[in-house]
Amino acid sequence: KIRTRFAPSPTGLLHIGNARAALFNYLFSRHHGGEFFLRIEDTDRERSTQQAVDVIFDGLSWMGLDWDNEPVFQSTRQGRHAEVVQELLEKGQAYRCYCTPQELEAMREKARAEKRPPRYDGTWRDRDPAEAPQGAPYTVRLKAPREGETVINDLVQGEVRVANAEMDDLVLLRSDGTPTYLLAVVVDDHDMEITHVMRGDDHLTNTFRQAMIYRAMGWELPRFAHLPLIHGPDGAKLSKRHGAQSVVEFRDEGILPEALCNYLLRLGWGHGDAEVLSREEQIDLFDIDGVGQSPSRMDYTKLAHLNGIWMRRADDSRLTTDVMNRLETQVREGRGDLEMTPAVHGRIQRLMPGLKERAKNMAELAENASFTAKSLPLEFTPKARKLLGPEGRTVLTGLKPVLEALDPFTPDAIDGALRHHAEQHELKLGAVAQPLRAAMTGTTTSPGIDLTLAALGRDEVLRRIDSALE
Ligand code: GLU
Repeated sequence: KIRTRFAPSPTGLLHIGNARAALFNYLFSRHHGGEFFLRIEDTDRERSTQQAVDVIFDGLSWMGLDWDNEPVFQSTRQGRHAEVVQELLEKGQAYRCYCTPQELEAMREKARAEKRPPRYDGTWRDRDPAEAPQGAPYTVRLKAPREGETVINDLVQGEVRVANAEMDDLVLLRSDGTPTYLLAVVVDDHDMEITHVMRGDDHLTNTFRQAMIYRAMGWELPRFAHLPLIHGPDGAKLSKRHGAQSVVEFRDEGILPEALCNYLLRLGWGHGDAEVLSREEQIDLFDIDGVGQSPSRMDYTKLAHLNGIWMRRADDSRLTTDVMNRLETQVREGRGDLEMTPAVHGRIQRLMPGLKERAKNMAELAENASFTAKSLPLEFTPKARKLLGPEGRTVLTGLKPVLEALDPFTPDAIDGALRHHAEQHELKLGAVAQPLRAAMTGTTTSPGIDLTLAALGRDEVLRRIDSALE
């Protein structure tokens, strides 16, 4: 049975590189009817606040990546990690190293002078521990093989190998008795019976070292799949200047989780020309074979495009709830001059089919919907103000009784009435619709004027005409 895991360190944000690793592990396990676990690597107690952990829970839930069982907190397993270190010591696969920080620094110094990577020189590998000063602090190091090679048959990178002479005796247990990251990951993956480890290829060097620990314990290695990193559009390391990088940033910008997952999947994984994929299709089609070897470049334009597609597919009431939340946040933060009356929800819901055609993300959609909640008098853009000059005012004055009497107040009826009014006064439809739009929204853009009026409802339309005529 396939068992995968996502093992983030709670750093306070969920980077999209990690989010993609989570998605791939999730899809792979679901595709094979296996299990997907979450392990919080919270051994750095200072950084691992509850808040930082919640960022991970919330991010994964938002992306719809549900994990099996309770999450495992690595910090709770330190006893078990120490136990394995003890076992390695007993097997002669590890040894105590009594080097002082000064001695280790001297080794690094020497490496620098010789212009080679620093490496522990094995001082205590074969030395008798009895030679150490009484009660001196020690670390425990793996007695790593010095001959031969370590080979990994990576499911993405293919066969990767390193000469064992290139690697030194890594620390398993620090002098304060805490396990190192390399050891903890191996013990946890083994105990959780993880069959496949998919993670960023920045972990490849760790993997060689972890493989040595597996072998020293006589444990079977999981299969590894190292995913190419996500770079910026220019090929450089993804950074702030490129745009959003974390799941929360994308959510705040108004990217839907379906769009982000769809995009992250397509970034570096392909299946023919399938572009827009639902979660069911993703689970159905995903396999590691489709993961490419070269680094992916973040394409924000393509993400925006996919987001538009997913927004138009999304249910109107869900989008309305999202917009309401965004507008309520604006009110809480004292922005935007909004009045969230009970009528606002209905107005936005009625307008949603038109609104979602036009926006490329939820932030823009909320902005376009915000006129429905604006308190009067509206603030007019210069263009809108121009439309409300003498001619515009005449149109509004003439329309008022028409709209007052119109029944039912539906888009069709409104459209008919506006056309009729335009004809009667020998005006183009635009000459009628534009001042009306300005009076309703304070701007010159909105969904169709008939939809806009119907969404606001007769009373509010008349109120806004009066307010614009004042
Ligand atoms: N905790 C590691 C990280 O956040 C991942 C470890 C792993 O996937 O093996 O980078």
